[in-house]
Amino acid sequence: MKYPRKIAIGFQEGTCPLHCKKCFAFGENAKKQKNIAKMPYDRALWLISEIAQMEQIPSIQPHIFTEPFANDDLQKIIQACVDRNICMSIITNGILLHKEWLDFLIHKLDRRYTLSFSLDAVTQQTYEKVRGNYELKELEKKVRYLICNRGDCGPRVGVNFSVEEENYTETEDFLGKWKGKVDAIRINTAFDQGKKIPVRFRKKRDDRPGTCGYLEEVMVIDTDGQVRVCQFDAFGDTMLGNVFEEGIVNVWNGEKISEVRRRQSNDELNHNDFCYGCEITEMTKFRTCETENYIMKEADHSLYYNYKEVIG
Ligand code: SF4
Repeated sequence: MKYPRKIAIGFQEGTCPLHCKKCFAFGENAKKQKNIAKMPYDRALWLISEIAQMEQIPSIQPHIFTEPFANDDLQKIIQACVDRNICMSIITNGILLHKEWLDFLIHKLDRRYTLSFSLDAVTQQTYEKVRGNYELKELEKKVRYLICNRGDCGPRVGVNFSVEEENYTETEDFLGKWKGKVDAIRINTAFDQGKKIPVRFRKKRDDRPGTCGYLEEVMVIDTDGQVRVCQFDAFGDTMLGNVFEEGIVNVWNGEKISEVRRRQSNDELNHNDFCYGCEITEMTKFRTCETENYIMKEADHSLYYNYKEVIG
């Protein structure tokens, strides 16, 4: 029996105060308008309880393509995960995080939980180009508040930088700014809507065979319980089974997803398949190395710095 390492659950989708150009769901090249949809809380709780009973318990990412803190149920969802000892990985733009939220996260969570801020810029001018009309300095203050006030509790805190045309010149400055100040830094290339690496940023290609890391490790459950092939299916083009009807583990081990994995790894996809021609999979073939201060995970177009020391 296979178990996912992580499950991204769309407890609520279609709500984000930003509309970043690069976003698969809200960006200027998104193929349609993302509608708002929400999973009823009793169903959310049912899913969390089912995950808690799994033989190998995955972490939960409480969102697919949306801002998780826009969900009124998020505090209850976090509490339900904490009560059941389920780790979480939360990615946020930070805009809706006010002081009460930050204090809640510090007091409820520990370092098995990760909160990472997608900032993508060092200067205000660039932030506005790549993300939106919010104060970057205010978002950075929230990162520092968590680090400075968490003591021995509170989540691991990271910052993310998605490299694209308008910000790539700030990549090194971003690293210089945050190295040694947060627990983790992620740098990755922003893909276009065709799931391709823009030509300017194409570096090399990892030709090692294998299935996509998303298909193998990260399960994606939409608001209605439908399982998607990965989080880049922002509009529900793929349907691999419904967890409310079939159960989480059954869908993850089911015929539909197994067939996608088999065809993807054997290079048997045709142009009607969602995964056809996808280059995102290159981001998932990680190599690990260690420096004096960091454990680093590197793949083509993706680099994680995990700081070894305790920060704060
Ligand atoms: S190959 Fe691409 S589209 Fe298919 S699961 Fe992996 S990331 Fe998603």
